[in-house]
Amino acid sequence: MRRAFCVLAALMNEQQQNIVGKMKPIVNFKEWKFRDPPNYAALPIDENPEYNVPVAVKDAVFSKVPTEPLIGKLHLVCASDEALVDLLDLHPSVAESEEFINFVAGSYLPEGGLSVSHRYGGYQFGFWADQLGDGRAHILGEYVNSKGESWQPQLKGSGETPYSRFGDGRAVLRSSIREMIASEACYHLGIPTTRAAALVVSDDHKVWRDKTYCGRARQERAAVVMRLANAWYRIGSIEILLKRREPHTMKLLVDFIIKQHFPELENSDDKYVDWYLEVAHRNLDMVATWQGFGFTHGVLNTDNVSLLGLTIDYGPYGFIEHFYQNYVPNSSDDMGRYAFNKQPEILLWNLEKLAEALEPILSEDQKEKIKDIRATLSEYVQRNVLKTHLLKLGLKEMKDGDDKLVQELFEVMQLKMGDFTATFRQLAEVESQQLLDKSVLETKWSLSKFIDTPNWEKWVKKYQDRLKEENVSEDERQSRMVKVNPVYVPKNWIMQEAIADAEKNNFEKVRFLLKLFKNPFEVNEEAEKRGYSSQPPSWSYGLKLSCSS
Ligand code: AMP
Ligand code: MG
Repeated sequence: MRRAFCVLAALMNEQQQNIVGKMKPIVNFKEWKFRDPPNYAALPIDENPEYNVPVAVKDAVFSKVPTEPLIGKLHLVCASDEALVDLLDLHPSVAESEEFINFVAGSYLPEGGLSVSHRYGGYQFGFWADQLGDGRAHILGEYVNSKGESWQPQLKGSGETPYSRFGDGRAVLRSSIREMIASEACYHLGIPTTRAAALVVSDDHKVWRDKTYCGRARQERAAVVMRLANAWYRIGSIEILLKRREPHTMKLLVDFIIKQHFPELENSDDKYVDWYLEVAHRNLDMVATWQGFGFTHGVLNTDNVSLLGLTIDYGPYGFIEHFYQNYVPNSSDDMGRYAFNKQPEILLWNLEKLAEALEPILSEDQKEKIKDIRATLSEYVQRNVLKTHLLKLGLKEMKDGDDKLVQELFEVMQLKMGDFTATFRQLAEVESQQLLDKSVLETKWSLSKFIDTPNWEKWVKKYQDRLKEENVSEDERQSRMVKVNPVYVPKNWIMQEAIADAEKNNFEKVRFLLKLFKNPFEVNEEAEKRGYSSQPPSWSYGLKLSCSS
């Protein structure tokens, strides 16, 4: 009888939850609770009592590690209203509350929380780097929201863990702002990504950083960003289990990931093969979106490639400004391994590493099938990238010679330093028949660079012919194009300005940017006044970012 009652109660709860899709957001943060226990508690967790000493962890997927709270006077730098409301059922006003700020600072763990750091390894710049892991991040628990989705809040910059190696477990304000803004901006651009909920900085908690690696370290304020994802597994999560010869744990982990995050594959006849294909396609779909927005990740090591196909670990990334196909935002990437135009092939290389890592749990037949899949991936991603670029030009079909059409535009852009974002947007704003009209082009700062360029004239004629072939009306072309070509992207110089103010506890620009990037495809009056879609200031040319964060 009691059991029947419980079942009934659970059902009612579920029904309520369904209605709660429209549930009122929670206003009192103390009422907000995690799932207890989190599902990941079913995986092997290392419980070494010396939790914050660097150590080679064995036979575990996580280490149980408490956060080391940010100390001193804290400020909420910003919060993402949509992430709070849509993912965590929290009213935006909660972000200002003391409990929530303490939650982000790592000093308040809501009921049901279980603070862990994830163990993984990775190939860094092509070489096996052995154990890496969450050296300054803590997954706090699992929150099941009113839509039934499970989200894992993770703090970044929340103290030392067994994976800290030589690091201090902290993050500074500038890199945290960059991660916060890019996560939310990419989400609204349509790039699959981890999210960011809130960012807290301390006035008093200082750390040493040598930003330019030139031997001039200085003190900076420590900050913590709260990121959100359904899960935080990376290719390196599997690789460490290959290198340390732990096939049993690997099987547990892969089965778990499939069950929790790819349930549609759980009963498939060949689930590891199907899962590999799905992970590969998700990551290649993701990289195609990057190529469409000029986004360059900067550090595509295998530990920074998500098994859920999400953009993860925003560090020295950049959105291309004046177009350069080998654009490298990361000042440490001397060889240009992670240049803009190399990203698809690097993802393929990383996926090869994933296939290698999985071998201990695959049968000979499965290995063969994965080999066959791998043979299809290069064409898959090339087609996807081309499709993305054609959509940016207002073209839905894919015809012979289209790759040249795109390549020739890029050549003109590179030759004349056309801005990646502005060129495409301005192409959408000018009638295709007027693309050679000097007086019209002069009104568009990026397109105006192409005036009197023979290759531009050649290209425009080709483009006009191609539009005729697809029979797309001018109205339709323009309306398709403004939906996929943003007015604003988080360019490094725009964020640099916001960061400079935030260093002085003026968070207005950071907050404005977060709001602006909710609608990156719409012209915003205030952003126009601030020059965010104008020609970048000269000081921003050649701006590079370091990994020191
Ligand atoms: P990333 O380049 O940010 O993806 O980091 C690579 C590895 O270094 C990861 O294992 C990070 O957790 C670790 N790491 C980066 N910065 C720190 C830090 N300040 N303290 C501890 N570990 C860090
Ligand atoms: Mg990383």
